[in-house]
Amino acid sequence: MTFKELNLKDDILSAIELLGYEQPTPVQEKVIPFMLEQSTDLVALAQTGTGKTAAFGLPVLNMVDTSRKQIQALVLAPTRELCIQIANDLTNYSKHMQQLRIVAVYGGEDIRRQLKQLDQTPQIIVATPGRLIDLVERGKIDLGTIRFLVLDEADEMLNMGFKEDIETILERTPDTRRTTLFSATMPKEIANIAKRYMKNYEEITVGVRNSGAENVEHIYYVSHARQRYLVLKRIVDLNPDIYGIVFCRTRMETKEVADHLMQDGYNADALHGDLSQAQRDSVMQKFRQKNIQLLVATDVAARGLDVNDLTHVINYNLPDDIEIYTHRSGRTGRVNKKGVSVSIIHSKEKFKVKDLERMIKRTLNNNKFRTDLKFVKSSFSL
Ligand code: AMP
Repeated sequence: MTFKELNLKDDILSAIELLGYEQPTPVQEKVIPFMLEQSTDLVALAQTGTGKTAAFGLPVLNMVDTSRKQIQALVLAPTRELCIQIANDLTNYSKHMQQLRIVAVYGGEDIRRQLKQLDQTPQIIVATPGRLIDLVERGKIDLGTIRFLVLDEADEMLNMGFKEDIETILERTPDTRRTTLFSATMPKEIANIAKRYMKNYEEITVGVRNSGAENVEHIYYVSHARQRYLVLKRIVDLNPDIYGIVFCRTRMETKEVADHLMQDGYNADALHGDLSQAQRDSVMQKFRQKNIQLLVATDVAARGLDVNDLTHVINYNLPDDIEIYTHRSGRTGRVNKKGVSVSIIHSKEKFKVKDLERMIKRTLNNNKFRTDLKFVKSSFSL
Protein backbone atom coordinates (compact mmCIF):
# COMPACT_ATOMS: atom_id res chain seq x y z
CA MET A 1 0.00 0.00 0.00
CA THR A 2 1.16 3.56 -0.69
CA PHE A 3 0.35 6.78 1.15
CA LYS A 4 -1.38 8.00 -2.02
CA GLU A 5 -3.92 5.20 -1.78
CA LEU A 6 -4.85 6.44 1.69
CA ASN A 7 -6.58 9.50 0.21
CA LEU A 8 -4.54 12.08 2.04
CA LYS A 9 -4.37 15.63 0.77
CA ASP A 10 -1.52 16.57 -1.57
CA ASP A 11 -0.08 19.03 0.97
CA ILE A 12 0.34 16.19 3.44
CA LEU A 13 1.60 13.69 0.86
CA SER A 14 4.35 16.03 -0.27
CA ALA A 15 5.42 16.66 3.35
CA ILE A 16 5.74 12.97 4.21
CA GLU A 17 7.56 12.33 0.99
CA LEU A 18 10.09 14.95 2.04
CA LEU A 19 10.51 13.10 5.33
CA GLY A 20 11.41 9.99 3.38
CA TYR A 21 8.42 7.89 4.44
CA GLU A 22 8.01 5.45 1.58
CA GLN A 23 5.09 3.39 2.66
CA PRO A 24 2.66 3.33 5.55
CA THR A 25 3.52 1.16 8.55
CA PRO A 26 0.96 -1.50 9.60
CA VAL A 27 -0.63 0.75 12.22
CA GLN A 28 -0.92 3.54 9.67
CA GLU A 29 -2.51 1.20 7.11
CA LYS A 30 -5.20 0.34 9.60
CA VAL A 31 -5.78 3.56 11.48
CA ILE A 32 -5.60 6.17 8.68
CA PRO A 33 -8.45 4.76 6.52
CA PHE A 34 -10.49 4.09 9.63
CA MET A 35 -10.20 7.65 10.87
CA LEU A 36 -10.83 9.14 7.43
CA GLU A 37 -13.74 6.93 6.43
CA GLN A 38 -15.55 5.95 9.63
CA SER A 39 -17.23 8.18 12.11
CA THR A 40 -16.88 6.05 15.24
CA ASP A 41 -14.33 6.02 18.02
CA LEU A 42 -11.23 3.90 18.01
CA VAL A 43 -9.07 2.02 20.50
CA ALA A 44 -5.73 1.12 18.93
CA LEU A 45 -3.28 -1.15 20.65
CA ALA A 46 0.12 -0.18 19.36
CA GLN A 47 3.34 0.74 21.01
CA THR A 48 5.72 3.60 20.43
CA GLY A 49 7.95 3.11 17.44
CA THR A 50 5.26 1.66 15.23
CA GLY A 51 4.55 4.99 13.53
CA LYS A 52 1.45 5.71 15.61
CA THR A 53 1.98 9.47 15.71
CA ALA A 54 1.49 9.67 11.95
CA ALA A 55 -1.31 7.10 12.20
CA PHE A 56 -3.49 9.54 14.14
CA GLY A 57 -1.70 12.73 13.08
CA LEU A 58 -2.16 12.46 9.33
CA PRO A 59 -5.94 11.89 9.36
CA VAL A 60 -6.43 14.60 11.99
CA LEU A 61 -4.44 17.06 9.85
CA ASN A 62 -6.43 15.94 6.84
CA MET A 63 -9.72 16.71 8.57
CA VAL A 64 -8.93 19.95 10.40
CA ASP A 65 -10.51 23.03 8.87
CA THR A 66 -7.65 25.52 8.66
CA SER A 67 -9.93 28.39 7.72
CA ARG A 68 -11.47 28.29 11.20
CA LYS A 69 -9.56 29.71 14.12
CA GLN A 70 -10.84 27.28 16.72
CA ILE A 71 -9.28 24.47 18.69
CA GLN A 72 -10.45 21.44 16.74
CA ALA A 73 -8.10 18.68 17.80
CA LEU A 74 -6.58 17.84 21.16
CA VAL A 75 -3.85 15.26 21.64
CA LEU A 76 -3.15 14.22 25.23
CA ALA A 77 0.17 12.59 26.04
CA PRO A 78 1.82 11.57 29.33
CA THR A 79 5.07 13.53 29.24
CA ARG A 80 6.42 16.85 28.08
CA GLU A 81 8.95 15.04 25.92
CA LEU A 82 6.27 13.14 24.10
CA CYS A 83 4.19 16.32 23.68
CA ILE A 84 7.13 18.11 22.10
CA GLN A 85 7.83 15.11 19.89
CA ILE A 86 4.22 14.84 18.71
CA ALA A 87 3.96 18.59 18.08
CA ASN A 88 7.20 18.47 16.07
CA ASP A 89 6.00 15.52 14.02
CA LEU A 90 2.66 17.20 13.32
CA THR A 91 4.47 20.39 12.36
CA ASN A 92 6.59 18.44 9.89
CA TYR A 93 3.57 16.69 8.40
CA SER A 94 1.73 20.00 8.01
CA LYS A 95 4.66 21.93 6.61
CA HIS A 96 2.70 22.87 3.49
CA MET A 97 -0.57 23.64 5.24
CA GLN A 98 -0.81 27.39 5.47
CA GLN A 99 -2.87 28.84 8.34
CA LEU A 100 -2.46 25.77 10.52
CA ARG A 101 -1.23 26.36 14.06
CA ILE A 102 -0.14 23.70 16.52
CA VAL A 103 0.71 24.50 20.13
CA ALA A 104 2.20 22.15 22.72
CA VAL A 105 1.42 22.79 26.40
CA TYR A 106 2.99 20.75 29.17
CA GLY A 107 3.95 20.94 32.79
CA GLY A 108 7.46 21.65 34.02
CA GLU A 109 7.81 24.79 31.95
CA ASP A 110 6.97 28.40 32.70
CA ILE A 111 3.31 28.79 31.84
CA ARG A 112 3.75 32.36 30.58
CA ARG A 113 5.31 31.33 27.28
CA GLN A 114 2.50 28.87 26.70
CA LEU A 115 -0.11 31.49 27.56
CA LYS A 116 1.44 33.75 24.97
CA GLN A 117 1.44 31.04 22.32
CA LEU A 118 -2.25 30.55 22.96
CA ASP A 119 -3.07 34.21 22.28
CA GLN A 120 -3.55 33.25 18.67
CA THR A 121 -5.90 30.29 18.78
CA PRO A 122 -4.32 27.15 17.31
CA GLN A 123 -6.39 24.44 15.59
CA ILE A 124 -4.42 21.68 17.30
CA ILE A 125 -3.22 21.43 20.89
CA VAL A 126 -0.87 18.75 22.15
CA ALA A 127 -0.92 18.64 25.95
CA THR A 128 -0.14 16.86 29.16
CA PRO A 129 -3.40 16.50 31.12
CA GLY A 130 -2.51 18.55 34.22
CA ARG A 131 -1.25 21.60 32.37
CA LEU A 132 -4.19 21.47 29.99
CA ILE A 133 -6.67 21.63 32.87
CA ASP A 134 -4.74 24.51 34.38
CA LEU A 135 -5.05 26.45 31.11
CA VAL A 136 -8.73 25.55 30.74
CA GLU A 137 -9.36 26.86 34.23
CA ARG A 138 -7.57 30.09 33.41
CA GLY A 139 -10.01 30.49 30.53
CA LYS A 140 -7.19 30.26 28.03
CA ILE A 141 -8.32 27.08 26.32
CA ASP A 142 -11.88 26.37 25.24
CA LEU A 143 -12.57 22.66 24.94
CA GLY A 144 -16.06 23.28 23.59
CA THR A 145 -14.98 23.26 19.94
CA ILE A 146 -12.97 20.03 20.00
CA ARG A 147 -13.85 17.62 17.20
CA PHE A 148 -10.99 15.14 17.57
CA LEU A 149 -9.55 13.92 20.82
CA VAL A 150 -6.54 11.62 20.80
CA LEU A 151 -5.31 9.93 23.97
CA ASP A 152 -1.78 8.82 23.25
CA GLU A 153 -0.01 6.27 25.45
CA ALA A 154 -3.15 6.07 27.56
CA ASP A 155 -1.69 3.29 29.74
CA GLU A 156 1.29 5.50 30.56
CA MET A 157 -1.00 8.40 31.40
CA LEU A 158 -2.85 6.19 33.88
CA ASN A 159 0.43 4.90 35.32
CA MET A 160 1.45 8.48 35.92
CA GLY A 161 -1.70 9.22 37.87
CA PHE A 162 -3.59 11.23 35.25
CA LYS A 163 -6.82 9.22 35.48
CA GLU A 164 -8.91 11.95 37.08
CA ASP A 165 -7.51 14.65 34.84
CA ILE A 166 -8.32 12.58 31.77
CA GLU A 167 -11.85 12.02 32.98
CA THR A 168 -12.29 15.72 33.63
CA ILE A 169 -11.10 16.49 30.11
CA LEU A 170 -13.34 13.83 28.58
CA GLU A 171 -16.29 15.30 30.44
CA ARG A 172 -15.54 18.83 29.30
CA THR A 173 -15.15 18.09 25.60
CA PRO A 174 -18.31 17.91 23.48
CA ASP A 175 -20.14 14.58 23.21
CA THR A 176 -19.91 14.91 19.46
CA ARG A 177 -16.13 14.60 19.52
CA ARG A 178 -14.41 11.60 18.00
CA THR A 179 -12.08 9.91 20.39
CA THR A 180 -9.07 7.82 19.44
CA LEU A 181 -7.18 6.06 22.19
CA PHE A 182 -3.71 4.59 21.75
CA SER A 183 -2.24 2.26 24.29
CA ALA A 184 0.53 -0.32 24.31
CA THR A 185 -1.37 -2.48 26.78
CA MET A 186 -5.00 -2.99 27.67
CA PRO A 187 -5.30 -2.98 31.45
CA LYS A 188 -8.78 -2.96 32.99
CA GLU A 189 -8.62 0.78 33.66
CA ILE A 190 -8.24 1.50 29.95
CA ALA A 191 -11.14 -0.77 29.06
CA ASN A 192 -13.21 1.07 31.67
CA ILE A 193 -12.39 4.48 30.22
CA ALA A 194 -13.24 3.23 26.74
CA LYS A 195 -16.55 1.76 27.91
CA ARG A 196 -17.53 4.83 29.81
CA TYR A 197 -16.48 7.59 27.47
CA MET A 198 -16.26 6.15 23.98
CA LYS A 199 -19.11 5.44 21.63
CA ASN A 200 -19.39 2.23 19.59
CA TYR A 201 -15.67 2.08 19.45
CA GLU A 202 -13.72 -0.29 17.25
CA GLU A 203 -10.62 -1.99 18.52
CA ILE A 204 -7.56 -2.41 16.36
CA THR A 205 -4.50 -4.33 17.45
CA VAL A 206 -1.33 -3.94 15.50
CA GLY A 207 1.04 -6.80 16.11
CA VAL A 208 1.75 -7.81 19.64
CA ARG A 209 3.34 -5.68 22.26
CA ASN A 210 6.96 -5.10 21.43
CA SER A 211 6.45 -6.34 17.93
CA GLY A 212 9.20 -3.89 17.00
CA ALA A 213 11.42 -6.44 18.70
CA GLU A 214 11.52 -8.39 15.44
CA ASN A 215 14.23 -6.04 14.29
CA VAL A 216 16.18 -6.35 17.49
CA GLU A 217 19.16 -8.61 17.91
CA HIS A 218 19.75 -9.63 21.53
CA ILE A 219 23.31 -10.16 22.66
CA TYR A 220 24.92 -10.66 26.03
CA TYR A 221 28.45 -10.68 27.35
CA VAL A 222 29.43 -12.41 30.56
CA SER A 223 31.73 -10.38 32.75
CA HIS A 224 33.04 -10.13 36.28
CA ALA A 225 31.46 -7.24 38.09
CA ARG A 226 34.76 -5.38 38.12
CA GLN A 227 35.18 -5.62 34.38
CA ARG A 228 31.75 -4.40 33.44
CA TYR A 229 33.03 -1.00 32.48
CA LEU A 230 35.74 -2.46 30.27
CA VAL A 231 33.20 -4.64 28.52
CA LEU A 232 31.11 -1.56 27.91
CA LYS A 233 34.07 0.27 26.43
CA ARG A 234 34.83 -2.68 24.20
CA ILE A 235 31.26 -2.77 22.94
CA VAL A 236 31.44 0.92 22.12
CA ASP A 237 34.84 0.57 20.46
CA LEU A 238 33.49 -2.17 18.24
CA ASN A 239 30.63 0.09 17.18
CA PRO A 240 32.11 3.51 16.45
CA ASP A 241 28.83 4.81 15.01
CA ILE A 242 26.86 3.76 18.05
CA TYR A 243 23.92 5.93 19.08
CA GLY A 244 22.49 4.43 22.19
CA ILE A 245 21.39 4.46 25.80
CA VAL A 246 23.37 2.72 28.52
CA PHE A 247 20.90 1.75 31.23
CA CYS A 248 22.16 1.70 34.81
CA ARG A 249 20.45 0.80 38.03
CA THR A 250 21.18 3.81 40.19
CA ARG A 251 21.93 7.49 39.86
CA MET A 252 25.31 6.91 41.37
CA GLU A 253 26.20 4.23 38.87
CA THR A 254 24.87 6.40 36.04
CA LYS A 255 27.12 9.26 37.09
CA GLU A 256 30.16 7.04 37.50
CA VAL A 257 29.80 5.30 34.18
CA ALA A 258 29.16 8.56 32.32
CA ASP A 259 32.10 10.27 34.03
CA HIS A 260 34.44 7.43 33.14
CA LEU A 261 33.26 7.39 29.54
CA MET A 262 33.78 11.13 29.25
CA GLN A 263 37.23 10.92 30.88
CA ASP A 264 38.11 8.19 28.41
CA GLY A 265 37.19 10.44 25.52
CA TYR A 266 33.80 9.04 24.58
CA ASN A 267 30.96 11.26 23.48
CA ALA A 268 28.70 10.54 26.43
CA ASP A 269 26.61 12.21 29.10
CA ALA A 270 24.41 11.23 32.02
CA LEU A 271 20.67 11.56 32.57
CA HIS A 272 19.39 10.98 36.07
CA GLY A 273 17.09 12.40 38.69
CA ASP A 274 19.70 14.53 40.45
CA LEU A 275 19.84 16.92 37.52
CA SER A 276 17.65 20.01 37.40
CA GLN A 277 14.90 20.12 34.81
CA ALA A 278 16.97 22.58 32.75
CA GLN A 279 19.99 20.25 32.85
CA ARG A 280 17.86 17.27 31.87
CA ASP A 281 16.35 19.21 29.00
CA SER A 282 19.76 20.23 27.79
CA VAL A 283 21.14 16.65 27.89
CA MET A 284 18.07 15.26 26.17
CA GLN A 285 18.21 17.92 23.51
CA LYS A 286 21.85 17.19 22.79
CA PHE A 287 21.16 13.49 22.62
CA ARG A 288 18.16 13.98 20.37
CA GLN A 289 20.27 16.08 18.03
CA LYS A 290 22.91 13.36 18.12
CA ASN A 291 25.50 15.66 19.62
CA ILE A 292 25.84 12.98 22.27
CA GLN A 293 26.33 9.39 21.12
CA LEU A 294 25.88 7.62 24.39
CA LEU A 295 23.37 8.55 27.02
CA VAL A 296 23.89 6.87 30.36
CA ALA A 297 20.56 6.82 32.17
CA THR A 298 18.34 5.27 34.77
CA ASP A 299 15.04 3.81 33.61
CA VAL A 300 13.08 6.51 35.37
CA ALA A 301 15.07 9.37 33.89
CA ALA A 302 14.89 7.89 30.40
CA ARG A 303 11.16 7.49 30.62
CA GLY A 304 10.28 10.85 29.14
CA LEU A 305 12.85 10.60 26.40
CA ASP A 306 11.33 9.83 23.07
CA VAL A 307 14.21 8.99 20.80
CA ASN A 308 13.38 6.43 18.18
CA ASP A 309 16.35 5.53 16.13
CA LEU A 310 18.84 4.09 18.60
CA THR A 311 21.36 1.68 17.13
CA HIS A 312 21.98 0.05 20.52
CA VAL A 313 20.44 -0.33 23.92
CA ILE A 314 23.00 -1.40 26.47
CA ASN A 315 21.96 -3.01 29.72
CA TYR A 316 24.87 -2.20 31.97
CA ASN A 317 23.08 -4.46 34.40
CA LEU A 318 20.19 -6.74 33.72
CA PRO A 319 17.06 -5.22 35.25
CA ASP A 320 15.32 -7.27 37.95
CA ASP A 321 12.07 -7.03 36.11
CA ILE A 322 11.89 -8.65 32.69
CA GLU A 323 9.22 -6.15 31.63
CA ILE A 324 11.82 -3.45 31.98
CA TYR A 325 14.13 -5.34 29.65
CA THR A 326 11.44 -5.35 26.96
CA HIS A 327 10.81 -1.65 27.50
CA ARG A 328 14.49 -0.88 27.17
CA SER A 329 15.09 -3.01 24.11
CA GLY A 330 11.89 -1.68 22.53
CA ARG A 331 13.73 1.61 22.12
CA THR A 332 15.81 0.19 19.32
CA GLY A 333 14.92 -1.67 16.14
CA ARG A 334 12.08 0.65 15.31
CA VAL A 335 10.32 1.15 11.97
CA ASN A 336 12.39 -0.64 9.34
CA LYS A 337 15.60 -0.32 11.30
CA LYS A 338 17.78 -2.97 12.86
CA GLY A 339 18.75 -2.54 16.48
CA VAL A 340 20.86 -4.32 19.03
CA SER A 341 20.08 -4.88 22.68
CA VAL A 342 23.28 -5.73 24.55
CA SER A 343 23.42 -6.93 28.14
CA ILE A 344 26.44 -7.21 30.34
CA ILE A 345 25.79 -9.95 32.85
CA HIS A 346 27.56 -11.67 35.67
CA SER A 347 28.16 -15.41 35.38
CA LYS A 348 25.81 -15.89 38.35
CA GLU A 349 23.04 -14.27 36.33
CA LYS A 350 23.11 -16.75 33.47
CA PHE A 351 19.88 -18.32 34.71
CA LYS A 352 18.16 -14.99 34.12
CA VAL A 353 18.99 -15.23 30.44
CA LYS A 354 16.73 -18.27 30.14
CA ASP A 355 13.84 -16.41 31.78
CA LEU A 356 14.39 -13.53 29.43
CA GLU A 357 14.44 -15.75 26.37
CA ARG A 358 11.19 -17.35 27.42
CA MET A 359 9.60 -14.01 27.99
CA ILE A 360 10.66 -12.28 24.79
CA LYS A 361 10.45 -15.50 22.77
CA ARG A 362 13.85 -14.83 21.31
CA THR A 363 17.33 -16.19 21.78
CA LEU A 364 19.99 -14.08 23.42
CA ASN A 365 23.30 -14.69 21.70
CA ASN A 366 26.25 -15.08 23.98
CA ASN A 367 28.98 -13.04 22.33
CA LYS A 368 32.58 -13.15 23.46
CA PHE A 369 35.35 -10.83 22.60
CA ARG A 370 38.18 -12.29 20.59
CA THR A 371 40.85 -13.62 22.90
CA ASP A 372 43.44 -11.32 21.39
CA LEU A 373 41.40 -8.41 22.69
CA LYS A 374 42.14 -9.29 26.31
CA PHE A 375 41.12 -6.65 28.78
CA VAL A 376 43.75 -4.48 30.24
CA LYS A 377 43.53 -4.77 33.98
CA SER A 378 41.44 -1.96 35.27
CA SER A 379 42.73 0.39 37.90
CA PHE A 380 39.26 1.21 39.13
CA SER A 381 36.22 -0.81 39.75
CA LEU A 382 32.59 -0.01 39.18
P1 AMP B 1 6.19 6.75 16.45
O1 AMP B 1 5.69 5.37 16.70
O2 AMP B 1 5.10 7.66 16.03
O3 AMP B 1 6.97 7.27 17.60
O4 AMP B 1 7.17 6.70 15.17
C1 AMP B 1 8.41 6.09 15.20
C2 AMP B 1 9.37 6.63 14.14
O5 AMP B 1 9.01 6.15 12.86
C3 AMP B 1 9.40 8.14 14.01
O6 AMP B 1 10.76 8.52 13.98
C4 AMP B 1 8.73 8.43 12.70
O7 AMP B 1 9.28 9.58 12.09
C5 AMP B 1 9.02 7.19 11.89
N1 AMP B 1 7.96 6.84 10.92
C6 AMP B 1 6.64 6.94 11.11
N2 AMP B 1 5.96 6.50 10.02
C7 AMP B 1 6.89 6.10 9.13
C8 AMP B 1 6.82 5.53 7.81
N3 AMP B 1 5.66 5.29 7.22
N4 AMP B 1 7.99 5.24 7.20
C9 AMP B 1 9.16 5.47 7.81
N5 AMP B 1 9.30 6.00 9.05
C10 AMP B 1 8.17 6.31 9.71
